[in-house]
Order: sequence, then structure tokens, then C-alpha cells
Amino acid sequence: MTAFAELVAPAAWRTVDLVSDLHLQAAEPATVEAWQGYLQTTPADAIFILGDLFEVWVGDDAAALPGFEAQCAGMLRLAAERQPIFFMHGNRDFLVGAAFAAQSGLTLLDDPTVLVLHGRRWLLSHGDILCLEDTEYLGFRAQVRTAAWQDAFLARPLDERRALARSIRAQSEDRKRSPGRVWADVDAEAARTWLRQADAPTLIHGHTHKPATHALGEGLERIVLSDWDASAHPPRVQLLCLSSAGAQRVDLR
Ligand code: MN
Repeated sequence: MTAFAELVAPAAWRTVDLVSDLHLQAAEPATVEAWQGYLQTTPADAIFILGDLFEVWVGDDAAALPGFEAQCAGMLRLAAERQPIFFMHGNRDFLVGAAFAAQSGLTLLDDPTVLVLHGRRWLLSHGDILCLEDTEYLGFRAQVRTAAWQDAFLARPLDERRALARSIRAQSEDRKRSPGRVWADVDAEAARTWLRQADAPTLIHGHTHKPATHALGEGLERIVLSDWDASAHPPRVQLLCLSSAGAQRVDLR
């Protein structure tokens, strides 16, 4: 049985923004700029990042040096002074730790977490753990989420970790291109089971890059967040805004 962390929103919160899968990287400055612009202007009372904020994260020590990671920490920190920012790990940035959270003003969130807003329960997850058909990935996930694997990885020199991350990414790009590859999606029965256990009608997740709202029966549904790519045609720069009126997608351009 899955443990469901619970976050009860303060009564003063009117709107909450949710985003995921921005895959921020220095090589994609347009998306970084869109993110920075969003952080500087959102009227939301809280921001929830449901994983894969970063294309890759090889350890919090990367942000201790001047560079892309430190720049991202700086823009998060400025925004976090105005409203709380919650961060849930994705499969790309599962190594974000307490040091980076402190540096950038983020509050780390368990996956999954139930957000209680205006008395309504919303189940939040990155979503990768519910893609049950992707057994190869789930095996990898189980390995890299252990303290032993993470301690051993983080003990390597930073340059070596960056090189390893590049090679893992290249392998995964190769697999994506292999013929007959079927994209795993969130398993509907697993999503229903989670929602019943969490006593929530709606699951919100990212990871699959397939934004849609799926009715699951029994009054249950799952809302899939969009990934971000400000250079795409048309650009994908979208968030989900929760308010007393429900969930609404907002395109920022
Ligand atoms: Mn993901």
C-alpha cells in the first residue's frame, strides 16, 4: 500500500500553479527565459513543480559553482521569497537534495502527495512509477532510488558524473528510436487504486509529455501536465492552475 503524504493548503491560498517536465538545460535558453519570466510574474499563492524541472541533475554540488545550476537556484530563490515553491522529484532530477532545496528556497515534496485545497483533495505525482509497462525503466528506477546507489554515484567526481549522465541519456535516446518502441503510459487501474486509497477524485501528473484529461470511471480522472519547450512551433509553455473553480490549463504564450 502506497503511503500518501498530505499537504493542507493555508486558507489564504486562492490559486496554486502546477508545472512539470520543463527539462531546463543551458542548451535551451528560450525555455529557461520563459520559466524565469513566469517566476517573476505569476500571481499564484504557491508553485508546485511535479518533477523534471531539470533535464539532468548530477548532484547539488553542481550548483555551488558559478554556472547554469547556480543561475537556476538564483531565480528560484527570488521567486520563493514571494510565494512558496514545492518540488517533487522526476526521473531526470531525482538527485536534487536538501542542499539545493536550501540554496533555492524549495520545499521538497514526497511522491505521491495529496494537496488539500479549499477542502478538495488532489493527488499529485510525477507519474513515472505508475507507468507499469515500462519494466526496464522501473528496474532502473528501483536501483537509482536506493541510498547505496546514490551515495556511490555522488562520491564520484563532478566531471565524471556529468559524463556518465550524458552517456545514460544517449543510451535512452537510442532506445527511444528503436523500432516498435511503444511509449508506456500511466496504468489506468493503478491510477484508480491510488485515487481510492488517497480518497481523491483527481490525479495530476507529468512525465509522459501527453497533456490530456482522462476520465477513469467512478468519478475519477487524471490530468496530465504539458512539458515545456519554448522553441517548439507552437511553443509549449503551459501550467495548470487550481482554484476554487477547479483545474484550468493556462498557456503563457
Ligand atoms: Mn519524467
